Amino acid sequence: MLQQTQASRIAERLPLFLEQFPTLPHLAAASNSQMIRAWRGLGYNSRALRLRDAARAIVERHDGVVPSSIETLRALPGLGPYTAAAIACFAYGKRVVVMDVNVRRVYSRLAVQQVLTSDVLDNHRLDAFAQSIIPARSSADWHHAVMDLGATVCTARSPQCTQCPLSQHCPSKGALRYVPKQKRTEPSFRGEPNRLWRGRIVDVLRTAHKGVTQRGLFATITGTRLDNTDDAAWLQGIIAALRRDGIVHPTRLELAD
Ligand code: SF4
Repeated sequence: MLQQTQASRIAERLPLFLEQFPTLPHLAAASNSQMIRAWRGLGYNSRALRLRDAARAIVERHDGVVPSSIETLRALPGLGPYTAAAIACFAYGKRVVVMDVNVRRVYSRLAVQQVLTSDVLDNHRLDAFAQSIIPARSSADWHHAVMDLGATVCTARSPQCTQCPLSQHCPSKGALRYVPKQKRTEPSFRGEPNRLWRGRIVDVLRTAHKGVTQRGLFATITGTRLDNTDDAAWLQGIIAALRRDGIVHPTRLELAD
């Protein structure tokens, strides 16, 4: 839930979500449309479906107990290296490397002298450095501390080296230059990214009664009529992607069952 979504929003929504799905078997039994409705305001809907898929796999393959080994966690649907390592570390206290964007930045600066604030080590060197530095015990405390350091002191643009408890050991202290990165362009329509339009379409379908048409949907999300082939092709492309992700029903314009 926290991926690219503000913690304050999650704090507000999590109790409602847990009320609706109090155990893994409840979550495993949820339909696509129940998940997408419950995920309102929590970002990418495909994450909701992967979370439910992971719950199903845990119930079916592991008697409803979340596994503790990284290899077994990685075999669950929707779990990448970060989430698998985070569960092993924070839920089970295992000594494993957990590498989020903040940890990656802090380790890169501690391992070798960096020149630009955007510089990061390649994965191979980062992993070797991380393995050498994480303590034998209290792995969860360690990772919380490094994440906090990256979020508040060793920040992406303006590291506060004079306040940093690691400054005596850091080859990059006081030397980093900030150069703004060029923004990546993403597919968009009428000046707004397609991901926002996707969210608006799903919002309409969450509350719509059956029988939404493409014209009606287009008018609702844009406030204008669908009267040219370019706009129709764009809308069909977004709907096709939502169908591929299992969010929209394969043949009808409504949430998937
Ligand atoms: S001394 Fe500066 S660059 Fe090094 S870890 Fe601390 S804040 Fe980051």
